[in-house]
Amino acid sequence: MADLAERGADHGTPTMRRPAEPGFSAAAIDTPALVVDLDAMEANIARMAREAAALSMRLRAHAKTHKCTAIARAQVAAGAVGVAVQKVGEAEAMVDGGIRDVLVTNQIIAPAKLDRLAALARRATLGLCVDSGEGAVRASTAATAAGVTLDVMIEIDVGQARCGVRPGAEALALARQVAGLPGLRFAGLQAYHGGIQHLATPAERAAAVAAFTQPTRDTADALSAAGLAPKTVGGAGTGSFRHEAAAGVWNEIQPGSYVLMDADYGGLDTGDEAPFAHALYLATTVISRRDGGHAVLDAGHKAASIDCGPPVPVWPPGARATSLNDEHTVLALPGGHELPLGAPCWLIPGHVDPTVNLHDWLVAVRGLELKDGRPVAGTVEAVWRVDARGAYS
Ligand SMILES: *Cc1c(COP(=O)(O)O)cnc(C)c1O
Repeated sequence: MADLAERGADHGTPTMRRPAEPGFSAAAIDTPALVVDLDAMEANIARMAREAAALSMRLRAHAKTHKCTAIARAQVAAGAVGVAVQKVGEAEAMVDGGIRDVLVTNQIIAPAKLDRLAALARRATLGLCVDSGEGAVRASTAATAAGVTLDVMIEIDVGQARCGVRPGAEALALARQVAGLPGLRFAGLQAYHGGIQHLATPAERAAAVAAFTQPTRDTADALSAAGLAPKTVGGAGTGSFRHEAAAGVWNEIQPGSYVLMDADYGGLDTGDEAPFAHALYLATTVISRRDGGHAVLDAGHKAASIDCGPPVPVWPPGARATSLNDEHTVLALPGGHELPLGAPCWLIPGHVDPTVNLHDWLVAVRGLELKDGRPVAGTVEAVWRVDARGAYS
């Protein structure tokens, strides 16, 4: 069995040190590390591709979840039309990684960033959202200077009160302006509501989508009547995509979290549908313990986000993180359970996107089996760079 000691001198710099190499057993992965259960991830990718096809939706996987081109390529190979991202830096990583259709589902305003986006459009189909005439003019200026065409989605605010023009007349006026600007191609409407994704029940999520379906439909109809029929009406995430698909207005869904999942999404009521499978773990090791079910792990805020709750130990049932510090997580174990010093402890991250962004590597394991929260089978098949880690700009 290969292990770290056999790897030799080439550990890279301390920050870039890989936690494992292909061929390692899952039990030999250095901690803390993010581990992908490849079989579960591939099943999630295949299932979403199947569901999108059955719903007659184009699937544009949101890559802000994983920031990893190896995963994006697997999603595209399974039928996604391309990826969505939030940042120009993420778009650059995706295009460098071979993705040929990228939509930035965000407002890009700084001229220097728009120049980078326009440069990318020489190598791939590139789109962005706009919600202002000023933003559209800036995008047009960058595109014409680079001699490229950028796809533009008019973002409408469907209730999140974040970015977006108001549905209706404002959206129509902006679409007219975009259609008249050189270097831009009016591509459609972006109608995404992030705030509803984690509503607890399918009925609540359905009602939330219903509340913004009519304004979205009216806007699309007004555009069509003006000769600007939107080629794409996009939006939807892992929590809501079935409801947008059922509404008959959207034709592109942009779910992200489904591919790896997290404790926040795993806790939702999904009604008749089984949830997507947990495919991401934070592997840690017990570095201190006390009697009475107190164990301390070798990972804290610098390995796991807590904005949607702390990471959740896979085992024992009822174990929970009671506090996190920079490099520690303290666990309270339910009665009678103890974790010995040096024991592996695998956890499900609370929120996938910001957790992945804390890591340089994703360790992809084939044939993973966990028993009592520790790996008893599985072999590292690949160690993927989180290519767009830290790509905030
Ligand atoms: C984050 C995001 C998504 C994906 O949401 P999930 O809940 O992770 O599936 C889709 N579209 C946009 C615009 C987003 O920002």
